[in-house]
Amino acid sequence: MAPKCYLFISIMSSGGQLGRMLAASASLLNVQVNVLDVGADAPAKQIIASSSHIDGSFRDKEKILELASKVDVLTVEIEHVDVDALEAVRIAHPNVQIHPTPSTIRLIQDKFAQKQHLSLFAIPLGPFQAVEPTPDAIAQAVNDLGLPLMLKSRTMAYDGRGNYALHAVDSQSISSAIDFLGSGSRQLYAEKWVLFVKELAVMVVRGIDGTVISYPAVETIHKDNICHLVWAPIRLGGINEDPELPRKAERVAREAIEKGFEGAGVFGVEMFLLEDNSLLINEIAPRPHNSGHYTIEACESSQYDNHLRAILGLPLGSTRMKVGAAGMLNILGSSNSSSSMSSSLVSFSPDLLIDKLTYLALSTPGASPHLYGKAQSRKGRKMGHITVVGSSDAEVRQRMAPFSSPARTLPP
Ligand code: ATP
Ligand code: MG
Ligand code: MG
Repeated sequence: MAPKCYLFISIMSSGGQLGRMLAASASLLNVQVNVLDVGADAPAKQIIASSSHIDGSFRDKEKILELASKVDVLTVEIEHVDVDALEAVRIAHPNVQIHPTPSTIRLIQDKFAQKQHLSLFAIPLGPFQAVEPTPDAIAQAVNDLGLPLMLKSRTMAYDGRGNYALHAVDSQSISSAIDFLGSGSRQLYAEKWVLFVKELAVMVVRGIDGTVISYPAVETIHKDNICHLVWAPIRLGGINEDPELPRKAERVAREAIEKGFEGAGVFGVEMFLLEDNSLLINEIAPRPHNSGHYTIEACESSQYDNHLRAILGLPLGSTRMKVGAAGMLNILGSSNSSSSMSSSLVSFSPDLLIDKLTYLALSTPGASPHLYGKAQSRKGRKMGHITVVGSSDAEVRQRMAPFSSPARTLPP
């Protein structure tokens, strides 16, 4: 006999790897997950059979209301959802729980509002200010904050696509920035350039009763604004690095979530480490996060297990690492092609790099490849990831060394 479903939740997805990994955790507890995604074959839908999945956008109010009518708990894997629709769910379906709360999602989806809000609680942030998308206003922001200047779109930003680093204040440079950032159609803000020595991230879990726990601080390495590598836990290598840094980073991250936001679930807190060992928060995501994928293999409970437990009001799982160290490498699309993966490991698809990394992972001890089932590959699109665990940081780095040039290590 098929097991009875414990509870229904739904995730509003958008491409869907986070939803897919959440659904995998849910399946272990007989929790039925229904997904709203434009793709009938979206990654999150592929791995949980349900006749209640909905094809539609997470910005479509009617579809969100339809989804809410089928479930007990609503959660998101992306912060760019239509929050007015979530408020409407509250009225139309008062028994449906929404985690994190619509007000938290509204604050976080506007990166400027998020920073203004965090500054109320003395959370460490770099200087920032609103800026109109006009040459005069941008020149004034350069005057205030200096060059280079980080111009950011307030909303709908991800993988650095709403960011523009302005290096000069001549009219050509400014007009290129305005063009790149939506030709005046998007609201912007400016951040002072941060000369960080490392980027860190801490995954924080907020339970339904407000309890806040955190995962170990990790180091994240970005390439072209996209997370490329994660090392867990962060390695204390620098001559002047404070041995208390990992605990300090966790404390800062927990404080930001504890003081700043409502609602249950996982939050990804991105931070900059400066030369003087101080920390600044870059931004917060109200959901599981790329820098927490490693928790699946490396921690006693993964970020997906804990997101699910938090939103269902179940006891939270231990966030401790159960291995000495871990590394996580994103598999990014290297070109635009209709298919990302070959069916056979030896006859490579046009997207060679993806297959090579996966192939290499399969023959590396401690490595676990995760492919997301995205039908279309695009340059820079997150197609999968590989986590490598080991008894020590040295072992993990040794195991991961061949991944930087997979072609050389493959059979002809
Ligand atoms: P995500 O995919 O993480 O949501 P995003 O589009 O919201 O990305 P940010 O996190 O704001 O973008 O920035 C992307 C990257 O750009 C950061 O991880 C960091 O490497 C760099 N960056 C962001 N802000 C600054 C800054 N003020 N000074 C220097 N570098 C910055
Ligand atoms: Mg972001
Ligand atoms: Mg970011």
